[in-house]
Amino acid sequence: MRLSDVLHQDAALDRLQRAITAGRMPHAYLFSGPEGIGKEMTAVRLASLLLCSSPSQTPPPKSVTTNVRHWNEACGTCVDCDLMRAGNHPDYHRIYRTLNKVHPDRDVQKRKATELGIDVIRHFFIEKAGLRPSRDRAKVFVIAEGDKLNASSQNAMLKTLEEPPEKSYIILLSASGDLLLDTTRSRCHQVSFRYLPTEFVANLLIQRHSADTVQARFLSELSQGSAGKAIQFFELGVYDLLEPTLQGVARASDDPLSLASVLLDNAKKLAAKIKSRGKDEPDDEDGADLNTSRLGQFIVLAVVGTILRDVQRTLAGVSPASLDNSPAIKQLARNATSTSLRTAVRAVNTAEYQIGRNAQVQLVFDVVSIAIGQALSSRAVSV
Ligand SMILES: [Zn+2]
Repeated sequence: MRLSDVLHQDAALDRLQRAITAGRMPHAYLFSGPEGIGKEMTAVRLASLLLCSSPSQTPPPKSVTTNVRHWNEACGTCVDCDLMRAGNHPDYHRIYRTLNKVHPDRDVQKRKATELGIDVIRHFFIEKAGLRPSRDRAKVFVIAEGDKLNASSQNAMLKTLEEPPEKSYIILLSASGDLLLDTTRSRCHQVSFRYLPTEFVANLLIQRHSADTVQARFLSELSQGSAGKAIQFFELGVYDLLEPTLQGVARASDDPLSLASVLLDNAKKLAAKIKSRGKDEPDDEDGADLNTSRLGQFIVLAVVGTILRDVQRTLAGVSPASLDNSPAIKQLARNATSTSLRTAVRAVNTAEYQIGRNAQVQLVFDVVSIAIGQALSSRAVSV
């Protein structure tokens, strides 16, 4: 578990390495950036380094663009490194919603963990941070679902964030620092993580998950550079939704409501798959039904958005990012204008926003489908 395993996040690694070498490691970090791009991977490796009993310092690896002179890594062979690898180092604490299931209070155990609640934060974070490290070097807390912290949890954490007990390090993970209270954010040193290059994500799908090239390219584009999301899409079989969606979009100018029903149908299929997969993962077993349905609806809209972006690129004379040489995309581009496509893309964005606000999904899908239908027949109308 080496920090240099983290790829395409050189700026973040650079900052961490400088702080470690200078002996000025902040006690509270906020790692911010979209889901699935390496924040937690980095946090675990940083924890490993902080807990290792004989860390090494070498010149930086060639794979990283940096001008730091010293590169710090865990040794990989000491007892602490073994414990970290085995996932049971006593001074490493991962904090997440469903820890409530192992909380000593029966009532807390029974609650649905839709948020990272104050009971979990008090028992597993604040109280534990106050104890001495078991192995004397440090204690590291990775708050994995920072965006699920509610206001009372964050208020309860403030004192620990401001004056962490000696040798305690806190790494808060968040999709966007803006989702946290100002008071939380201002007590942490923020390190931003970036989207990964889509080509890198596509290769990852091909090499580690045996995806074929066409599927890998589409899913990496759909994920917009999040390896975590691309892998999730692959496992959920999102690629199988592409063909029916493409056909629905192609028919939308004549029959927009048939596109709406394709979207609704696909979203339901996805939600069922997400739900059945969730049951195998004890950490996330109670993803509420609403969240599952919503995630399905978001993915379905993202597929439409990716198709429209490809049509836009084709119309602009650039080769499509995800579906190269698709006759369907070329046909769609012949019937659209760039102005009408922009309107359609905006309609998809609006639909995503409304889904996020719990709008009635059938209505949202009807409206977006009608907008797409109009956009894709605009050339015929205007001629
Ligand atoms: Zn070690």
